[in-house]
Amino acid sequence: MSHLFYQGRGRKPVLDQARGVYMWDTDGRRYLDGSSGAMVCNIGHSNPAVLAAMREQMERATFGYRLHFETEASERLAAKTVAKMPEGLNRVFFVSGGSEAIESAMKLARQHAVATGRAGRWKVISRSPSYHGCTLGALAVTGFRSLTEPFAPMMREMPKVPAPRAYLDGLDPEDPATGRHYADMLEAQILREGPESVLAFVLEPVGGASTGALVPPEGYMARVREICDRHGVLLIMDEVMTGAGRTGAFLGCEHWDTQPDIVVMSKGFAAGYAPLGGIVAPDWLVEPVLDQGGFAHGFTYAGNPLACAAGAAVLDQIEQQGMVANAARMGELLLARLRELAARYEIIGDVRGKGLLTAFEFMSDPVKKTPLPREFRAFERFVQIAYDNGLIVYSRRTRDGVEGDHILVCPPLIATEAHLDEIT
Ligand code: PLP
Repeated sequence: MSHLFYQGRGRKPVLDQARGVYMWDTDGRRYLDGSSGAMVCNIGHSNPAVLAAMREQMERATFGYRLHFETEASERLAAKTVAKMPEGLNRVFFVSGGSEAIESAMKLARQHAVATGRAGRWKVISRSPSYHGCTLGALAVTGFRSLTEPFAPMMREMPKVPAPRAYLDGLDPEDPATGRHYADMLEAQILREGPESVLAFVLEPVGGASTGALVPPEGYMARVREICDRHGVLLIMDEVMTGAGRTGAFLGCEHWDTQPDIVVMSKGFAAGYAPLGGIVAPDWLVEPVLDQGGFAHGFTYAGNPLACAAGAAVLDQIEQQGMVANAARMGELLLARLRELAARYEIIGDVRGKGLLTAFEFMSDPVKKTPLPREFRAFERFVQIAYDNGLIVYSRRTRDGVEGDHILVCPPLIATEAHLDEIT
């Protein structure tokens, strides 16, 4: 028996090696990493340049506490990160993962409100379904009942608005009226809450595991920005899954030219080479907080030099190998192939995505959009068959079908057409 426990009892194969888009277990079986782990290993496994940069940093120093030392690695990564951000986002705060980064973004927003005489603002509106992390603060803005319910008494749950799942509501995602329809629900919620109590709105520009690569309808993002501005609400862009090129742009929000107030990064940021996350914010958000004595927040491992050296080398690799453009190109091919599959198998009710963040959703009736009955095990069998044939996909089956049953297909951004052939 293993001493480890994670989500369930099932035993997994033991990982031995990983190179590029492939992984091998200790029995010598090969797997194509069709989900980049959990949409993490964007640049592929065992990239020699990243390993060399990490080795070099390890031989210099593996830890320096952030209140005692700056490190060249963290300064280098901060500069490279800022260079990739929309205009004005030039201040970086590092952490070790996505949940920590979401907590940090919400606390920075809150401290800014307190520092600027708007202490009545504390509510962070988010969407349902959504996923923003598993710590209690991040969970409070997560719209996914089976994950949040057991912990409800331990946290102050935040207001939710529906995610724009036009395909379920029978609306045309290409029609700007659809985007307005969903964005206006945010405005209605802000007015219900009282705008003077609302601090921020947090969203994934392209939905991740919770909504299975949900792409916002036409006009949605611009309208959301307009509504946030109108009511003095900060717009926090959760780019944990979409950032670092996954959707075919460095940030997901670039597809809609939407200016965020805070960008939240993790996953592809260090691409699985080290635990890393971060938030990026403009001076006008950070300076008032520093003027009031500093950001009352920080994790022991924040700015870890090894993680930062990995992150800086990962960003270099993304750039040098043109991975963002490759994600855009391969993403279109992959979507087309998944659509061909959907045409052959009635159980696939919807196919969607942007870049190499793609997903399909299983439904028992794709016309009426009814979820699979819970006792129907085709979903689990599909995932098992993929696994048995050496393909890893990311699956999310929900307790009662409310959030949808998705398979995410998100290979590393170095995937070639041959890899897509193998996957489909
Ligand atoms: N935000 C989004 C959009 C995510 O997909 C995730 C993780 O899947 C998180 C936040 C939380 O990140 P972590 O699991 O690194 O804490």
